[in-house]
Amino acid sequence: MKALVYRGKRTVGVENVPDARIESPTDVLVRVTTTNICGSDLHMYEGRTNVEKGKVLGHENLGQVLEVGSAVVRIKPGDWVCLPFNIACGFCRNCERGLTGFCLTVNPGFAGGAYGYASMGPYPGGQAELLRVPFGDFNCLRLPPDAAERQKDYVMLADIWPAGYHATELAHVRPGESVAVFGAGPVGLMAAYSAALKGASTVYVVDHQSDRLRLAEAVGAVPVDPGQADPVEQLLMATGGNGVDKACECVGWQAHDPAGNEQPALALNNAVQAVRATGEIGVVGDFVPDDPAPHDELAAHGQVAFDIGTFYQKGLSMGSGQCNVKAYNRYLRDLIAAGVAEPGFLVSHELPLDDAASAYRHFDERDTGWTKVVLHP
Ligand code: ZN
Ligand code: ZN
Repeated sequence: MKALVYRGKRTVGVENVPDARIESPTDVLVRVTTTNICGSDLHMYEGRTNVEKGKVLGHENLGQVLEVGSAVVRIKPGDWVCLPFNIACGFCRNCERGLTGFCLTVNPGFAGGAYGYASMGPYPGGQAELLRVPFGDFNCLRLPPDAAERQKDYVMLADIWPAGYHATELAHVRPGESVAVFGAGPVGLMAAYSAALKGASTVYVVDHQSDRLRLAEAVGAVPVDPGQADPVEQLLMATGGNGVDKACECVGWQAHDPAGNEQPALALNNAVQAVRATGEIGVVGDFVPDDPAPHDELAAHGQVAFDIGTFYQKGLSMGSGQCNVKAYNRYLRDLIAAGVAEPGFLVSHELPLDDAASAYRHFDERDTGWTKVVLHP
């Protein structure tokens, strides 16, 4: 089968690799029809993780079931399914509590597994023609009859939309609250979208890329451009000096100022400064314990200079971590099916798998208009 393979820093290519196949009676084999390039794929692409060469990337996958293992009872060939980027067993201590992003079974010695990702287990990704889905009955989200026509919306259930939603859950966003989202990449846009769906009174989105800010505005958010003035000052001004009720950090450790200088704690500390006393912050931007190409001494070991003094003085709370996709994807799917939500609005490019390498390059260079790339193998 054809698949996108990581070959080293900024080197990926579509190659022929052995077909994915059923390996265990609980597996499901999916013919991938839609698979996204994620901002977090760029951490690997840029050589900022320890991902092994030869890995097939791709953790945001949707397709049609081709074959099921002998122990699979719920999923049938022909079903349209979207796969959470987390691979989970469904029966371990964490899965039982709904914390499927931290499954203790699928990646022994580590809490959490995923397709095509550094440190997340031996699983090949879905930027390929075929994908093996372990524990298929648990991990496949079945899609309604309009799935084939609305793949652009439903594929956002694999990661991006649940991840953005998770930021609002970690911050306990409630109706009527004001929310600042830091980062208008796909996850930040989905956090803003989710906050609006939850009834936030005002959603501010902070980013210095105008094409992304325009998308934020299109879903009703107030754009805040750090290139114009200090974003914390802008947010304090907009809230009468009080600060916003809640903040979502959707940037992570590769945060940088408008001049491009990397400052890992930039968005995190801006969130601390911009929320009101006793406010809450949800952190879904990626932070890693080791960075092989760090921009400062602390970042090499996953550390940042965090404004703990202000955080403590204001009595703030913070939740963090990768999203437990299965906690939300069923409900978010039903919002799409009912016509309430169309998360596919952020897709800028739909391309064949053969164009994946050039798509990585454009997306990595943040070329104007390349907000979200969807590949069709
Ligand atoms: Zn992703
Ligand atoms: Zn588990």
